Amino acid sequence: MTTIGQDVNQPAGIPEVFTINDVVDRGLCVGCGACAVVDSNVKLTRNQYGSMVAAIDANILPGSIADRVCPFSDNSLNEDVVGERVFASCENFDQRTGYYTNLYYGRRFTEAELLKSSSGGLTSYVAIELLKRHHVDGIIHVGRDQSDDRDALFKFMVSYTEEDANACKKSQYYSLSFDEVVRSIRGDGKRYVFVGVPCFVKSLRNICLNDAVLNEQIPFMLGLVCGHLKSSRFAELLAWQLSVPPEKIQSVDFRVKNNASTVNSYDFQVVDSNQQAHAKTSNTMLGGNWGHAAFQLQACDYCDDIFAETADAVFGDAWLPQFSTWWQGTNIVLVRNPIIDDILESGKNAGAITLGGVSIDDLCKSQLGNFRHRKDGLIVRLDDDLKQGKKVPKKRVDLSALGKIDQKRKKIVRLRKEMAVKSHEYFLQAREKHDLSLYMKPMGQLARNMLKLYRDPFMKRLINRLKRYF
Ligand SMILES: Cc1cc2nc3c(=O)[nH]c(=O)nc-3n(C[C@H](O)[C@H](O)[C@H](O)COP(=O)(O)OP(=O)(O)OC[C@H]3O[C@@H](n4cnc5c(N)ncnc54)[C@H](O)[C@@H]3O)c2cc1C
Repeated sequence: MTTIGQDVNQPAGIPEVFTINDVVDRGLCVGCGACAVVDSNVKLTRNQYGSMVAAIDANILPGSIADRVCPFSDNSLNEDVVGERVFASCENFDQRTGYYTNLYYGRRFTEAELLKSSSGGLTSYVAIELLKRHHVDGIIHVGRDQSDDRDALFKFMVSYTEEDANACKKSQYYSLSFDEVVRSIRGDGKRYVFVGVPCFVKSLRNICLNDAVLNEQIPFMLGLVCGHLKSSRFAELLAWQLSVPPEKIQSVDFRVKNNASTVNSYDFQVVDSNQQAHAKTSNTMLGGNWGHAAFQLQACDYCDDIFAETADAVFGDAWLPQFSTWWQGTNIVLVRNPIIDDILESGKNAGAITLGGVSIDDLCKSQLGNFRHRKDGLIVRLDDDLKQGKKVPKKRVDLSALGKIDQKRKKIVRLRKEMAVKSHEYFLQAREKHDLSLYMKPMGQLARNMLKLYRDPFMKRLINRLKRYF
């Protein structure tokens, strides 16, 4: 795959390389914590909007190690280069997904197991099998923060036993950093599998390519397909709509499966400080529609990696018609490591999982919204930035394709970006004034504007109706 980078994205007058300093200055830090793993002067903090961000000072020079591991800096290796270095022996390559050995759909066999996971449960299944087969000693992933002095509902942690790992399932739509946990395991002589969203895997892979110790210690990385990452305020907004204000939240579950729903519709549940559970279907609440990008981190507007191209395998939701009525959940899985192929095939033969093949086109079809956001949408956003004289990171998209994107899509992309930015601001006001309506009213209006953009014009609707009638 060719990288269409600087020369296309950066017209004359804006020639510089986009460094970690630009990433932080422009608010594009995703808060992964990679820079703090390699440079102990960097600290990660949760900002007023509930997003983890790196506090870096001017001593971080372009080309320094912190710069070279930042996933949004031009000085880190991009997904194409990492893919070539790590996975070039895979038989297959597709521009949309990167390298792969095999593609699957699948799920845990029993309903009881499926209900504990977000989709088909294969991410945790593979991670735990790596542990049970002694390929690794621990799993670095996200689970609930149970500590008394917690400042967040979740954290990156290590599970050393199957039992601990079983307590860390499901997707956590929550801004977090891995720096503390990765620093804590460095040099302990143990081996780990890491689970994360694509940009986190990319930055950890860049660390490992620069650090022989961690490279030896983290032989497996599992990616999660990612639409976008959200700040910690997302949980608070949904909980508040269920009459649980931020200070009363005990715990949340973003993905409670509901047998009255289809596969892409699930419930959000909050348990309040009186141990009372409250739940509602996420996409019936304001902010629950992922197309509205509520609390999306700005970095996600500059990501072009859908299938975690630097991970040994990536797992997503099989949002395809053939699986839509399977409300218990099904994964799509793209594999780049024969050991993971073997784990999946053995699991199928042992009757632990259901597994079948899926075509590359179906795999991509399951993420159509993601492609619109990360390919066409990215072109529109980069072009808008450049026209405003802003510096932008190098991305693997062709800006000359802008003319092929229709006006309606461009308006949707711009409104979506506005909704993401405004969601952070309005919620901060709502929180400070203890008044949820300060969020609901203006964001409700923006959501209605988005709905109007998606609706066909009156005449088109009338003609369609007449066609159906006759
Ligand atoms: C922010 C985010 C956005 C996503 N967007 C999409 C999307 O657009 N399309 C799509 O198909 N799928 C998306 N996913 C992935 C999807 O929600 C499921 O996580 C995936 O299908 C795996 O499901 P599972 O049942 O196999 O995992 P499970 O068996 O439930 O195991 C999940 C594993 O992932 C770990 N984990 C959960 N959240 C995080 C996190 N934030 N960071 C690191 N590790 C974590 C858990 O600790 C656990 O090990 C997203 C996930 C996240 C976290």
